[in-house]
Amino acid sequence: MPPLPHPPLSKDKLGGGPYSLCIFQGGQQQRAILSTPGFPSPVPQQTQPRYHLGSSPNDRVGMFASCHIDAGDLVVAERPLVLMPAVATAVPVKMPPGFEASPTQVMQLQMRQYNMILEKCIERLPVDDRKAFYEFKSHDRKEGLGPILDRMEMNGLAVVVASVDKKEKFRNSAVFKHVSRINHRCTPNATWDFDVVSFSMRIRALCAIENDEEIFISYIDDESVTGNERRAALRKYGITCGCGLCSKDI
Ligand SMILES: [Zn+2]
Repeated sequence: MPPLPHPPLSKDKLGGGPYSLCIFQGGQQQRAILSTPGFPSPVPQQTQPRYHLGSSPNDRVGMFASCHIDAGDLVVAERPLVLMPAVATAVPVKMPPGFEASPTQVMQLQMRQYNMILEKCIERLPVDDRKAFYEFKSHDRKEGLGPILDRMEMNGLAVVVASVDKKEKFRNSAVFKHVSRINHRCTPNATWDFDVVSFSMRIRALCAIENDEEIFISYIDDESVTGNERRAALRKYGITCGCGLCSKDI
């Protein structure tokens, strides 16, 4: 497993816009982002906010339209609070001399070490952003992903960045202060895509959305996945869905 380099912090490289804490493994992805033509462009802003956060019927926070939104219109564009590799990285750990650790113990120690590094990174967020990050739900699972990875898994959206030569793809998970509050529906009324140039996630209406209607995206970005794969993907977010798409191979 590759060692985790000292996590670099991308600060003041975003054109003076909102701050994003980025943890990259190696320098390739950072180079790809910084060399994107037009980067960093400002995050598109609306004169009137088109959304607000509120209580969803399932007791979760949700995002709701604050006005009529036409199909194709931008609902919100937002930079991540935190972006990090989608797959947890094993960190080399030193064992006390003479201590024979089992592979499971080694893995647990590596994960603990990785979480300690991540916690140090999160401490570098501005106080309000750090508070917003910890307000996100976590699974509280026994496997011990740790407080950071657990929140990333439950609230993060996939962000894929291509290398400069486009031959490699870097897969990240990103948590957003507001966008990560949008609930999932297998038949969404909005879509999402990450724009590297403005370094922001853009949410657009798929159909007309009425004032006060809840905004939904699909957390599963590939429509062709099987029902089994859909259920596994949604389980990560703590969602059990019995819709036609999710039950097609039961
Ligand atoms: Zn479903």
